[in-house]
Amino acid sequence: MLYENLSVNEKGRLCVGGLDTVQLAAEFGAPLYVLDEDRVRANCQRYVQAMQAYLPAGSRPLFAGKALCFKGLYPVLEEEGMEADVVSPGEIYTALAGGFPPEKLYFHGNNKTDEDIQFALSSGVGCFIVDNPLELRRLDHYAGTMGKRQRVLLRVTPGIDPHTLQAINTGRIDCQFGVPIETGQAERFVAEALTLEHLEVEGFHSHIGSQIFEAAPFCDAVDILLDFAQGIREKLGFTARVLNLGGGFGVRYQERDPVVDIPGNIRALAEHLTAGCAAKDYPLPQVLLEPGRSIVGDAGLTLYRVGGVKTIEGYRSYVTVNGGMTDNPRYALYQAPYTVLPADRMNDQRTFRCSVAGRCCESGDLIQEEIDLPQMQREDLLAVLTTGAYNFTMASNYNRLCRPALVMVRGGKARLAVRRQTFEDLTACEL
Ligand SMILES: *Cc1c(COP(=O)(O)O)cnc(C)c1O
Repeated sequence: MLYENLSVNEKGRLCVGGLDTVQLAAEFGAPLYVLDEDRVRANCQRYVQAMQAYLPAGSRPLFAGKALCFKGLYPVLEEEGMEADVVSPGEIYTALAGGFPPEKLYFHGNNKTDEDIQFALSSGVGCFIVDNPLELRRLDHYAGTMGKRQRVLLRVTPGIDPHTLQAINTGRIDCQFGVPIETGQAERFVAEALTLEHLEVEGFHSHIGSQIFEAAPFCDAVDILLDFAQGIREKLGFTARVLNLGGGFGVRYQERDPVVDIPGNIRALAEHLTAGCAAKDYPLPQVLLEPGRSIVGDAGLTLYRVGGVKTIEGYRSYVTVNGGMTDNPRYALYQAPYTVLPADRMNDQRTFRCSVAGRCCESGDLIQEEIDLPQMQREDLLAVLTTGAYNFTMASNYNRLCRPALVMVRGGKARLAVRRQTFEDLTACEL
């Protein structure tokens, strides 16, 4: 099994957090997002504890809400000692509706509109991660009109390629996020920020990419950020109290992916930072990390009902399911790998080579190609693992499919956290 929270019961059915997935689908319907809350909590704890143990005092993880965002998640995050990233007023609204304290929110985004800025300021968001000089000036202006001094981090791009997919690689110089260090623009960005009366600059932010399995790319980012910070200190007399290194630790989608040792990597990162600061005689900054995928990814799975099997003679076989790119667009977008399991017949021989297709009118609507399952029949149940991140949040109503429900599993019990959409929801905004 890919993870310890999965098992097979005496009926040969896949269980998650001890609960039979066939029963979950019978009770809550399919497609169904299932989130193992115990695993989310354990994933949070690995970050919280390792960051407290190894990194400078005050270092802490922020959960990146773009990976998964619904009201019921926020009390869990808060109880586990997480703070959180938000990228839009909608995410701010959701976090606050879930009772999350606004001062623990960090507001990201490369195009925050004036309305967004005002909304976040009046919501009392703790920190803005400012993307560019235009935003900087607007934020200073609105903070001034509200009589506030707003904490900010300045987003810079270190120019690192962590060898991941282009589409989810944001640390390179040529990208739409942040201000590049190499061209000298980042230095001017900081210089301007320091002159603005209504902003309190705490430090710098960088995010190098996603699905990273070791500490090395983060250590490279630390080197570049420390060089940059030291230059700023010498030229402008400003010392960064905070370095936010972004998100990006990976999860196992398939058996061939390595298991990421999060505490070990955080420890390696801490040693690298300590040595780097000592060598430069730079005061140790607090470190923030922004894990998204590695908090919720492997805690989630999706259950689908099989509709049938279609064999194109001489070519291949398709197993069709009652969801698809609407609840999980990641294969259609960038051929993301997944593990697909026959949830109701885990002990059967997997000798049937097939591709799993969704139900949308789009030939790219595939969940995975060329995998091995037992011979499938209508009404069988398939489980797609590791769908806790970037599935629910990327879902759409294409073809007017209703979005699935989301169930949280804790201590051997399941509770509905997001109900399935209804047809009325589909037309709710239509006049
Ligand atoms: C996407 C993103 C994250 C989260 O990345 P994961 O790979 O899900 O950990 C964190 N910070 C920023 C700025 C991001 O864009």
